[in-house]
Amino acid sequence: MVQLVFLGTAGSSAVVSKQLRASGGIVMRMDDLQFHLDPGPGALLKAKEYGVNLHHTTAVLVSHCHINHCNDLNVVVDAMTHGGIEHRGVVLGSKSVLQHYGESHPVLTYHHQGLLERIIPLEKSHKIGIELIEINALSVDHTDETAIGFKFFFPKFTLSYTGDTAFSEELVQQLSGTDILILNVPYPGNKAEGKNLDTESAIKIISQVRPRLAIITHFGLEMLKADPLNEAREIQRITGVQTIAAQDGLIVSPGSYGKYKSPIKGYS
Ligand SMILES: [Zn+2]
Repeated sequence: MVQLVFLGTAGSSAVVSKQLRASGGIVMRMDDLQFHLDPGPGALLKAKEYGVNLHHTTAVLVSHCHINHCNDLNVVVDAMTHGGIEHRGVVLGSKSVLQHYGESHPVLTYHHQGLLERIIPLEKSHKIGIELIEINALSVDHTDETAIGFKFFFPKFTLSYTGDTAFSEELVQQLSGTDILILNVPYPGNKAEGKNLDTESAIKIISQVRPRLAIITHFGLEMLKADPLNEAREIQRITGVQTIAAQDGLIVSPGSYGKYKSPIKGYS
């Protein structure tokens, strides 16, 4: 049984800096495995608030080096390893997070690199396995050019998290077969700026991929003003795909293929 816990839904520096929405990332749990996606500012506090024990984390996955995705990587690794007492855990991420890239230094400090069992810089389209879960790095198109998304092949279903990206046909193709699709949609309507999604491009992706459940998250200021709930309803109305807007603290239990009846807990 897989469970998603949203430790944050903020998607722009205006929203993050004022903590209009939290920004601790997404935790995914399945049996003994716990993956933490994009631990932004406040990951420790929100994990405590929403009952997630970060010491149980198996792997931390970071899509790119923007501060609202990677800021708390080191403290999360510290929590995972009990400050280095236990040499354990895996960090997967874009090259910009894990290596010297251009003029920037790795986000993961040398000290924290030494606490981990494995560090895996992933390039677009590469594949890796953790325990029984295969993970594909999605080819996303973002201002951090090394940015990636993640597609997880669980035994009974496939879940994709795009991270930050503009629309592309290549991405749509790579998302094919996804059952649960988490899209970062910072902008409402057709108002995307930079290399990001808006509601209109989310509709394009969802109507082609046709997942069983779509979850939009990572909201900017304009999106919050438009109200993500309204945007999710509009996406669902047009695509016919069940779509929800994530909230801080939202817990989703997608269940398995066969039991796919009531996927949402704690959502109103
Ligand atoms: Zn970004």
